[in-house]
Amino acid sequence: MLEIKNLCAEIDGKPILNGLNLSMARGEVHAIMGPNGAGKSTLAKVLAGHPAYNVTCGEVWFKGQDLLDMEPEERARLGLFMSFQYPLEIAGVTNRQFFEAALQALGKEASITQEAEALEISPAFLDRNLNEGFSGGEKKKNEILQMALFKPDLAILDETDSGLDIDAMRIVAKGVNALRTSDNALLIITHYQRLLDYIKPDFVHVLAGGKIEKTGGPELALWLEEKGYA
Ligand code: ADP
Ligand code: MG
Repeated sequence: MLEIKNLCAEIDGKPILNGLNLSMARGEVHAIMGPNGAGKSTLAKVLAGHPAYNVTCGEVWFKGQDLLDMEPEERARLGLFMSFQYPLEIAGVTNRQFFEAALQALGKEASITQEAEALEISPAFLDRNLNEGFSGGEKKKNEILQMALFKPDLAILDETDSGLDIDAMRIVAKGVNALRTSDNALLIITHYQRLLDYIKPDFVHVLAGGKIEKTGGPELALWLEEKGYA
C-alpha cells in the first residue's frame, strides 16, 4: 500500500532524509523509532505534504498513486491520515464543527458522539474549541477520535504517546487497536517501546542518518530500550 523509494528531503536547505526506503502492506503495523532529531517527524510531514519540506530525490507510492504529486487534501481523500506530534489549536471552531467539516470534505459519514463515547470523550468536550486549552492527553485522544471518524487506509501517528499518562495511553492504544483491520495499515512513530506493549507492531525500524538503518520485529524495540541507539 505504501512504497517509499530512496526518499531525500530537506528543510531550509538542510538535508534530513537521505535515501530512505520503506514498504508497508495492508494489515501491517510498522513502528519507527530513532534518536531525537533523526528525521522521524520530517518523514511524517513529507508524507502528509507539509509545504516547508523540499523533496530532493526519490518516490512515494500510496495505493498505486504518486503521493508526492498530490496536494495534502488529495492525500487525505485517498486515505492518508496523520496525527501530529503538536496538534494545532484553533480558536472559534469547535471540535464538533471541525469534525463535521472534515468528514464532509472527505465525503464520509460517522457518528461523532458515538465514536467519542468509545474513546471515553465526553460530549461537552466536543463543543470546546479545537485543541484550545486541551491537555496533552486530551489532544492525543482527540487525534485518535479523528482517526476513528475518518477510517483512513494508512494512519501515521507521530509520538502519540508523548505526554500521556498510563491510563490515557491505554485508552489511546485500545482505540487504535479497535481500528485495526486486515485492510488498513498503521505507522507508529515513537521514542519509547512502552506504547508498543499495547499496540503490537509487525515491524520495527530504526531511522538514523536520514534512512532506515535497521529493521526487525517487536524484539528490536525491546533491544533498543535496553541498549539505546548508540
Ligand atoms: P525527530 O522527529 O526524529 O526528532 P525531526 O524530523 O523533527 O526529528 O527533525 C529532524 C531535523 O530537522 C532536526 O535536526 C531539526 O532540528 C531539523 N528541523 C526540523 N524542522 C526544521 C525547520 N523548520 N528548520 C530547520 N531545521 C528543522
Ligand atoms: Mg518528532
